[in-house]
Amino acid sequence: MTETILLSPRRSRVERRPTRVGQRYFIRTIGCQMNEHDSERIAGLLVADGMSRTTHLDEADVLFINTCTIRENADNRLYGNLGQLKEWKDSRPGALLVVGGCAAQKDRELVRERAPWVDVVMGTNNLDRILDLLDYAENWGGITEVVDELQAMPSSLPVRRELTHSAWVSIQVGCNNSCTFCIVPAVRGPEISRRPGDILQEVGGLAASGVVEITLLGQNVDTYGRDLALGGRRRPLFAELLRQVGSVEGVRRVRFTSPHPADFRLEVAQAMSETEAVCEQLHLPLQSGSDRVLAAMHRGYNVTRYRQKLEMARATIPDLAVSTDIIVGFPGESEEDFQATLDMVEASRFDQAFMFIFSPRPGTRAAELTDRFVPSEVVKDRFDRLVEMQNRISLEANHSRVGRVEEILVEGPSKKAAGVVAARTRGGKLVHVDGSWPAGTFLTTEITGAAPHHLVGRLV
Ligand code: SF4
Repeated sequence: MTETILLSPRRSRVERRPTRVGQRYFIRTIGCQMNEHDSERIAGLLVADGMSRTTHLDEADVLFINTCTIRENADNRLYGNLGQLKEWKDSRPGALLVVGGCAAQKDRELVRERAPWVDVVMGTNNLDRILDLLDYAENWGGITEVVDELQAMPSSLPVRRELTHSAWVSIQVGCNNSCTFCIVPAVRGPEISRRPGDILQEVGGLAASGVVEITLLGQNVDTYGRDLALGGRRRPLFAELLRQVGSVEGVRRVRFTSPHPADFRLEVAQAMSETEAVCEQLHLPLQSGSDRVLAAMHRGYNVTRYRQKLEMARATIPDLAVSTDIIVGFPGESEEDFQATLDMVEASRFDQAFMFIFSPRPGTRAAELTDRFVPSEVVKDRFDRLVEMQNRISLEANHSRVGRVEEILVEGPSKKAAGVVAARTRGGKLVHVDGSWPAGTFLTTEITGAAPHHLVGRLV
């Protein structure tokens, strides 16, 4: 039996006695850091119910797929995966398959239609209901529960974090912008900020448990707090929050993602520069170097404005590392538009860029512009040219750090080479160092080599 229910107000049974002791869970996460963090919350609830994590699918009693809908191939992957998981379900009677996250929130009926063997379909706004939904599916059959009304996740939820030294902390959910290529506002809803006291309490608890690095998460962190009635103040609350998080005892590194070029303010740059724990790292998504395309994307800034923000940030924060996002082949993008993007990339000297080929998301305005889609071979050629240019710039930026002495924070063994650890500089650059220190160790290294996507260091 499959039932669709919408519950309000929500019930949470976090405090119940563990009922799944000895069982194992497997979580597969697709998508962004927001999803990674949601998965940590799901893991926290499953562990609180007595379960432990497994990395082997054939041992799992509960398989949770945390889905993404930002790109079309993420959807295709999901439905491909679900097809294969029918076999897994058949081979493990009693095991429960859960599909959560953005694709489930947006396409709840489609998930059911394409994969009726899924036991629980749940959205992004009711993660705290996972245990009740598992109980329901076990006793009564398949269930879909998607809650459309949005609220910031209660901080009292247990979280099972993947790392012990570094943690994501959500400061807001949703987004009030309307970028024409983006499905986030439709899936996650309008922006809702968590109260600063809540955030600081969570950060304090994390620091007390040994976390030294905090990454604040939001879709547009610069507008953090605009929806909170805190004495009618209109000051940039994000700048204030950065200073407060940076002063929590034990926190040595603070990062955040993502700011928005239209809303990034001098006060935030000053807070970054004046708060020792806040790292000299800024992710400022450009998306395109053409004013015409930026207007079609509904980004709320033009190239001149972006350049001014970038100059302001670099002038205010010494030794700032800047990364960006760029979409190639937005509908109607001409060769001239693309050339403007290349010019902007050349001039901006980004340390790193996340480059994407435009992918139409059903439900977005850009997806309706089918008559303006750029032929795929043209997009591919542009993409390759952009990647080549950015790789050269990244390599030059990395080369300029050779000979410097940098503090790095170890993340764990390198996946590329044995006897080497992967670590990050304050600017967020990956450094490989020979040795075997545990994750969370701070080291001082001299940078001895550079590649486009990492540095090589030697212990000082
Ligand atoms: S700012 Fe634009 S791209 Fe970012 S989440 Fe909001 S709508 Fe999407």
